[in-house]
Amino acid sequence: MKPETDFKTPSVAAEGIVKDFGTFTALKRVDLTIDQNEFFTLLGPSGCGKTTLLRLIAGFEAPTEGEIKLMGENIATLPPFKRSINTVFQNYALFPHMTVSENIGFGLKMLGKPRAEIAARVDEMLALVKLQDFAKRRTGQLSGGQQQRVALARALAPSPRVLLLDEPLSALDYKLRKEMQVELKRLQTETGITFIFVTHDQEEALTMSDRIAVMSAGEVLQVGDARAIYDRPANRFVADFIGEANFLEGRVESREGTQHRVALAGGTLAATGDVPVDPGAAVTVMIRPEHVQIVAEKTEGGLPALLERTVFLGTDTHYYLRMQDGAEFIAREQNRSATVTPFAPGANVHIMVDAQSTRLLRD
Ligand code: ATP
Repeated sequence: MKPETDFKTPSVAAEGIVKDFGTFTALKRVDLTIDQNEFFTLLGPSGCGKTTLLRLIAGFEAPTEGEIKLMGENIATLPPFKRSINTVFQNYALFPHMTVSENIGFGLKMLGKPRAEIAARVDEMLALVKLQDFAKRRTGQLSGGQQQRVALARALAPSPRVLLLDEPLSALDYKLRKEMQVELKRLQTETGITFIFVTHDQEEALTMSDRIAVMSAGEVLQVGDARAIYDRPANRFVADFIGEANFLEGRVESREGTQHRVALAGGTLAATGDVPVDPGAAVTVMIRPEHVQIVAEKTEGGLPALLERTVFLGTDTHYYLRMQDGAEFIAREQNRSATVTPFAPGANVHIMVDAQSTRLLRD
């Protein structure tokens, strides 16, 4: 049931997309290519334009400028129902008076498919989302998780090239959401359909996506896989939005290639950047809390800090520190042994971090 693919042409391409609503610009020249068979996530805070971009791809809205291409073809003139694209909405939008089977077969019926073909496809979809025992139930009598599965099966039944998912898990409780994340990933892999998933939940994005586009205020700030975005964020917004991060302000003292020595309050730190930044430039060094080591003695490459608070959390200890310029700094250490006592509040300590685990961000 996987769609035929050549894998070279992007499944969806957004080229120079601008979307104005009156005088407000919701999307400011967005360029994106989404590959075939990809689980692609649009991630960003509320109001950044994720849903607007999804609606443009679906054809519910037209771009002010730019083109949306599906398998290399401009689809500007195609109405939503003629695009090989389906959408799963946050509220599922099921037909409550119809049974599960009727809901799943609805799109195929609208396409005028023969009865036997619809019945076979509905059975296939019921098996895919594991709802065989619920075929005759009305959807109003199902739990939230079951309704979500029906909505997925209904959207997948006509074998669209692309499935758009707009925060489809946000109405579910935590445990069910976790289960459905695994389920969605499985459905995407098994069907080979391109999934474009919208969320503001970074953990959800990291769990499922092949690649993530981080958006803010109508712009795409970075596109990459989870690891790249977490380890090598393009800027401070991305670093802060995905995971926890410390930011230290400083100035480049010297550099060799992309390895920099940065002068900060209390000392210098070796920091890695994406591009070379010349000496004298003001920069921010990003450090993830779990990449920090705390030592009692002054050591080469260590920065002095005052330990203000220690929180023991069983598996980890969190340290809340104050740097010499007054900046707050958080470090997290795994408790690898029951015999090691965490540092106590009030201690003057030093923080150490490997240059490869730092990220130099230009101000
Ligand atoms: P959320 O996670 O809250 O759904 P989002 O990132 O999906 O947010 P959008 O719904 O795409 O954001 O909205 C982006 C911006 O465009 C918002 O400021 C919103 O108010 C504005 N907007 C969206 N649709 C319209 C419209 N039809 N008319 C005017 N402004 C709109």
